[in-house]
Amino acid sequence: MHTLRIENTYADLPERFYAFTAPSPVAAPMLIKLNVSLAHELGLDPDDLASEEGVAMLAGNRFPQGIRPLAQAYAGHQFGNFVPQLGDGRALLIGEVVDREGHRRDIQLKGSGPTRFSRNGDGRAALGPILREYIVSEAMHALGIPTTRTLAAVTTGEAVYRETRLPGAIMARVAASHLRVGTFQYLAVRGDVEGLRTLADYAIDRHYPHLADKEARYLGLLDAVVAAQAELIARWMLVGFIHGVMNTDNMTISGETIDYGPCAFMDSYHPSTVFSSIDHAGRYAYVNQPRIAVWNLARLAEALLPIIGEGDAALEEAQAVLGTFQQRYETAFHAGIRRKLGLLTEQGEDMALAADLLERMAQNGADFTLTFRDLANELDAPEGKARARDHFIDPTSFDDWAARWRDRLAREPEHQTERAAIMRATNPRYIARNHRVEEVIKAATESGDFAPFEQLVAVLANPFDEQPGNERYAQPPRDEERVLATFCGT
Ligand code: AMP
Ligand code: MG
Repeated sequence: MHTLRIENTYADLPERFYAFTAPSPVAAPMLIKLNVSLAHELGLDPDDLASEEGVAMLAGNRFPQGIRPLAQAYAGHQFGNFVPQLGDGRALLIGEVVDREGHRRDIQLKGSGPTRFSRNGDGRAALGPILREYIVSEAMHALGIPTTRTLAAVTTGEAVYRETRLPGAIMARVAASHLRVGTFQYLAVRGDVEGLRTLADYAIDRHYPHLADKEARYLGLLDAVVAAQAELIARWMLVGFIHGVMNTDNMTISGETIDYGPCAFMDSYHPSTVFSSIDHAGRYAYVNQPRIAVWNLARLAEALLPIIGEGDAALEEAQAVLGTFQQRYETAFHAGIRRKLGLLTEQGEDMALAADLLERMAQNGADFTLTFRDLANELDAPEGKARARDHFIDPTSFDDWAARWRDRLAREPEHQTERAAIMRATNPRYIARNHRVEEVIKAATESGDFAPFEQLVAVLANPFDEQPGNERYAQPPRDEERVLATFCGT
């Protein structure tokens, strides 16, 4: 592993922030997939990582000298209920690498065995959820959405026991950092003001260094996280992504999407769509995501309050910052939806036009992704190409809307030729359809067949390209293919 230069600045923080923990070795590690382009991005040698030594490291069996893995401590609100101690119960921070662009990135193993924070868990992960996280995180990256990445996945040669016996797996996750809203809550609930300041300084240094010498830098940190999350959630909403478990421990300070559990992309558009089998009340339904983000950020504000300042003044300042979320979210969402509709200028009626389309889509079971994708075909495609109207139960409902849309387009200056191209670079053809993800997991778990996984990952790497021969990956599920609930499957 001569190429490996692993640092660990987190280990320089006070020991109460984490627990040094050795991973538990596994019986027979086997590399499922190495993310070669990500390895390059990180300045790591893919051949090294794929070597016996490399795989031993990716499985947590053997590390090069000098690596001291640790489990990070954090708290969190899970479905609204505060848990003062969660922490990495089945993950370990191996350390950090500085990538080719000079950005410090965490490398974490997930599924690497018990830690002080495991509670009743076994510290392990089943193959299915590891493949899901690989597929969906890389799909999100290809869509241009900030996310943790997946460097590698290995099987362990050991079984894990959930409802049934399943193959075990471990992934190597790469993140701008693993700092969560819950990391701050962990210190706040312990009244550890000194620790909060240390952690906030660390977060600023890592993610928002321009704040470092600012007077009100902790308020600035809150503001920066609010901005990053408003942008992120808008991006989710624009591709129909439903995170599924937006607990405060699953929300990053960096603004990257993290912890892909029972997540999914919507097929037919409906605002109240929920996939997660554990989300009975629909708390984390598609339409609720912006509101939940604000709720989570309010928990961050509470945690930061002791270092933001004193008394009512600090509270008011924090509240004012939280109050900016909605505007920021709307700015990002509106800009995004305009692009999806091919509107390159801004007019007052645009949001009403968008809302009207979405409402008609909801009434007509229209596929979210394909309706937007095939809108461009309404402009320039030859006869016989799929069109947006084809995705409506009642295509005349689309036609009525499209008349309005064409009126609006007529008031766009020039750009006619660019328009369809911009729409196709904004509206993906390929998303990680839940029924395809499930199909891949089934083949891998039941038959040890990883070819469908490889194929799906390859298709999703180019979501905006037409890929002749791969149409099945673009299609919504037939009734019998529909996945009704996605299990957390930890
Ligand atoms: P998650 O739902 O994956 O975000 O995890 C929530 C909390 O449960 C985190 O503290 C995890 O580390 C912990 N956890 C989840 N699965 C396991 C497991 N199999 N063993 C130990 N801890 C776990
Ligand atoms: Mg989590």
